[in-house]
Amino acid sequence: MGFLRRLFGSDKKKSSQGDVQGLYFFVQCDNCGARVRLRADKQYDLNRTDDGYVWHKTIVDSKCFRQIPTEVHLDGNYNVVSAEIEGGHYITSEEYEAPDRPPPSPPELMDEGAPQRR
Ligand SMILES: [Zn+2]
Repeated sequence: MGFLRRLFGSDKKKSSQGDVQGLYFFVQCDNCGARVRLRADKQYDLNRTDDGYVWHKTIVDSKCFRQIPTEVHLDGNYNVVSAEIEGGHYITSEEYEAPDRPPPSPPELMDEGAPQRR
């Protein structure tokens, strides 16, 4: 009966990274620096053009609520050809997940037993 578990196991993996319908974009607001992750549905959000697709979206971030209109052109394989955006800029998924501030100094550098130097 091991095959049942294997079936369920692969299903679980599918749910986390099998979003074939979705395209993900990462945008940062120029005004407040808020980062926004956007999902465009290939079937419902993209409009067909002569040579690919176009995606229109007005992004509203969750910090200053300023509207950030964008227009992204994609080729027939959903690769971004050009992107226009007002009031914000596109960032990578790595930049989106990066912490706001640099991490604190490693604990081994802070020796609590040493006298404080002034
Ligand atoms: Zn903002």
